[in-house]
Amino acid sequence: MSAGDEARTGLEGALLSLYGDRDLTLVKGEGSRVWDDQGQSYLDFTAGIAVSALGHRSPVIEAALQEAWDTGLMHTSNLYRTRPAAELAEFLVQHSFPGGVFFCNSGAEANEAAIKFARRWARTVHGEGHSDVVAFRGSFHGRLYGTLAATDRPKYQEPFRPLMPGVHFAELGDLDGMARLLQEERPCAVLLEPVQGEGGILPVEGAFLCELRELCREHGTLLVFDEVQCGLGRTGELFAWQHYKVVPDILTLAKPLAGGLPMGAVVASEAVAATLQPGDHATTFGGGPLVASVALAVVRTVAEPAFLQRVREAGARLRRGLESLTRPGVLGVRGRGLMLGLVLEEDRAGAVVAAAQEKGLLLVGAGPRVVRFVPPLTVSDEEIDEAVEVLREVVA
Ligand SMILES: *Cc1c(COP(=O)(O)O)cnc(C)c1O
Repeated sequence: MSAGDEARTGLEGALLSLYGDRDLTLVKGEGSRVWDDQGQSYLDFTAGIAVSALGHRSPVIEAALQEAWDTGLMHTSNLYRTRPAAELAEFLVQHSFPGGVFFCNSGAEANEAAIKFARRWARTVHGEGHSDVVAFRGSFHGRLYGTLAATDRPKYQEPFRPLMPGVHFAELGDLDGMARLLQEERPCAVLLEPVQGEGGILPVEGAFLCELRELCREHGTLLVFDEVQCGLGRTGELFAWQHYKVVPDILTLAKPLAGGLPMGAVVASEAVAATLQPGDHATTFGGGPLVASVALAVVRTVAEPAFLQRVREAGARLRRGLESLTRPGVLGVRGRGLMLGLVLEEDRAGAVVAAAQEKGLLLVGAGPRVVRFVPPLTVSDEEIDEAVEVLREVVA
């Protein structure tokens, strides 16, 4: 056996090395806990990067899966109507704003679709020449060609140029700069995460969002909120923009939508929806009956006022715990609900994540200086306290 063959027999062997060195092999999950192949258990405060909102092995999801499976229709393609997608679309519109919904399979796909819908709308309403997009410093919208262009990471972009042209980056909070961009570039859309995720768990100022909403209205530019990470209960409201009462024209969702199955969604306002034609966009898998059934169970659960209230309480408890860790080198806490970041003075997020893992707590960084906390939304007080105590040992 050659060395190459040997490597291929290992668990990483045949996988492309896109995710770097990984030292954990997970084999089991339950609630907020996962187990590795050595039988070691971990408190999972990554939740699959803000995906597993109802935790692992959720009975809600198990029941939805079983019921969907029992219909015998896992997939039909979009040649036919199916009930779960229709009901899920109705639910999302009822809980956000009047319009229509497109289902896809990931966050990047949802944002790609949002950009296409914005261009279609602008071309219909304004005519040619309104194809540009404005995104913000620190943004993350995905790794496909349009979304990568709108993601503020030169390192991720460089090897893959040319990207989608016509993306302008603005500073959060800079209204004058934004007004100038809207005036001079006539973009079709401004794309924004109400709470930046990968950029470091950074909530956008409410006053800026209100002013931005007005500016977009004045200039005939669509405001698109990427709530792929911060949406669906994570911040303690069903949608993060509901904290600010600033309603977008297009809303994108994904990570937690189907509780761990891949699914994305775009909610488009009535005005945008009215410009879309059959054939403008499509996907084979999007909105299939099995994923849509699970998503329906997830959104019905997280939209319950009592569930959202519990997220706010759990978030407040976690925030208090993390704030008690503030010391030289640990600057403080930011975020909303159960989407929190511990901000460090130096580039030590990776070291903190590694040390926490050694002590049985799984975390993920959000940039080099922020340790991210996005546990299942069902996390218990005891689990929160346990995580804070592990962190206390780590930062000591
Ligand atoms: C994760 C993320 C995406 C990309 O989602 P994928 O499912 O990985 O394509 C887009 N926007 C935000 C805000 C995200 O956090």
